[in-house]
Amino acid sequence: MTYRSGRHFLQLPGPTNTPDRILRAIARPVIDHRGPEFAELGLRVLGAMKWIFKTEETVFIYPSSATGAWEAALTNTLSPGDHVLLCEHGFFGVKWGRVAERLGLQVERVQGDWRMGAAAASVGERLADDDVGRIKAVLVVHNETSTGVTTRIPPIRRAMDDAGHGALLMVDAVSSLGAIDLRHDEWGIDVSVSGSQKGLMLPPGLSFTAVSRRALEASAAATLPGSYWSWADMEEFNDRGFFPYTPATNLLFGLAEAAEMLEEEGLERVFARHGRHAAATRLAVERWGLENVAVDPDEYSSAATSVFVPEGTSADHLRSVILERFDMSLGKGLGQLEGRVFRIGHLGDLNDLMLAGTLAGVEMGLRAAGIPHRAGGAQAACDWLADNPLEA
Ligand SMILES: *Cc1c(COP(=O)(O)O)cnc(C)c1O
Repeated sequence: MTYRSGRHFLQLPGPTNTPDRILRAIARPVIDHRGPEFAELGLRVLGAMKWIFKTEETVFIYPSSATGAWEAALTNTLSPGDHVLLCEHGFFGVKWGRVAERLGLQVERVQGDWRMGAAAASVGERLADDDVGRIKAVLVVHNETSTGVTTRIPPIRRAMDDAGHGALLMVDAVSSLGAIDLRHDEWGIDVSVSGSQKGLMLPPGLSFTAVSRRALEASAAATLPGSYWSWADMEEFNDRGFFPYTPATNLLFGLAEAAEMLEEEGLERVFARHGRHAAATRLAVERWGLENVAVDPDEYSSAATSVFVPEGTSADHLRSVILERFDMSLGKGLGQLEGRVFRIGHLGDLNDLMLAGTLAGVEMGLRAAGIPHRAGGAQAACDWLADNPLEA
């Protein structure tokens, strides 16, 4: 490989760009994870994750990808043969369901259109039919990173309450936390699951569960086997800022820095910034004459936009041209969208000029790959960004 000058554009919907401040925070000597300096760090990051999840309840941090936290949510609260109701409207929902099946759970599915979010009414109907309380948990992906569709969680909670059903509500917030508003307590979520490499701007390697009192109570009776993920083990140590095994110390230095950055910018402002960049991206897509996978404006994702390429063209070819010619990585189409869709990540540490470069790269790629489109999408987005500053 020859040297490629300039900065690589990592415009995936995760992993996202890790800011220099975080990289510098991570580049430190490892410290004793049972010593007093670590205890301070542990307490700091556990506390920070609480306000990021908007919860007064318990947060656990794992050295794992977010897939581990999916597993933790299930093994800590459920027993073999338990039924879970999975809202399946994208690739990550499918994957979470597969994890549940492998663990010996019975997965009932609310199959949804992949261009839409989870339907609260369907969840309500299924729960109303379950008068014996067979279903122990409802699993929903907040932001489907495969489709660029964000499900509104409060209507799901309301449907569960209206059905008078006691299932736990588990939400995959992997690509929403730190990018799209998520309110663990206010929305009545029992387990929120997330990871480090998306809105939190860190390298991959940390995952999180925010856990309600009800979910903690359920964990006392749950009998699915699990050791590494044990909340009880975590609780024993976390009070004092420690972990039951060696944590990812240096990623935690990074997490402390990420939390500081989110605090400096302000979470609400972070969400507004993401919304604005998503709006500019959609404007470009529209001008290109390409089709957004998401169809309901109320469900447009602030974190990622998934775009269909015209029939008879290949999104993967487009992505490889863009990588080779312009040194930019875009997300690939996943599951049933493979080859038909490319995904523009606009979450994490991003500013207007990074987005402008990203959209220019997409447009140059469309041209270089010979994909039919209308020119001027990147310019339309730039004009709109120039005319519409982020409100103070
Ligand atoms: C990225 C992602 C995951 C998987 O995270 P890993 O860290 O790769 O295990 C799960 N759910 C959603 C919505 C995601 O975006």
